Amino acid sequence: MTHATAAFPESRHDHADCVERTLAAAERICRDRQARLTPQRRRVLEVLLADHVAVGAYEIADRLAENGRRPAPTIIYRALDFLIEVGLVHRLASLNAFIACGHPGSAHGAQFLICNGCGLVAEISDPRLAGAVAEAARRVDFAVLRPIVEITGRCPACRPGLRGRGDA
Ligand SMILES: [Zn+2]
Ligand SMILES: [Zn+2]
Ligand SMILES: [Zn+2]
Repeated sequence: MTHATAAFPESRHDHADCVERTLAAAERICRDRQARLTPQRRRVLEVLLADHVAVGAYEIADRLAENGRRPAPTIIYRALDFLIEVGLVHRLASLNAFIACGHPGSAHGAQFLICNGCGLVAEISDPRLAGAVAEAARRVDFAVLRPIVEITGRCPACRPGLRGRGDA
């Protein structure tokens, strides 16, 4: 398996395990920080864990609607702020959407491969890329606030030609 297909979770991967591991990490991280993973925060995180695609705040509110009543956007944004603050969620500026962190609990510079075919997002955490960004900024005396790299393209499943060759 190439690195690229490993980064992009395949449809047949054990996603229940993904979700379970991240929720367990979330509980641990919140406990360590003496913060509370309130039911509201947990529900927002669960929406983001439903699939490996980024979800906007209004879409999150839609999915959490009960009996046709959507939670107010401020409630969603407050939960997202918390989840970003503790490192469980990243904001993808290019999509104005949010994605659950693929490596919660570890300090990492995040880079994202975003498929513009199916919306799948793979979080890679390549120290060489993070180092190159830091070095390039240092050279021009630029103080980095948000060293997040967002790369748009096509995932393996959205390139049938390439996939067919690999499966043969
Ligand atoms: Zn998964
Ligand atoms: Zn991350
Ligand atoms: Zn795709």
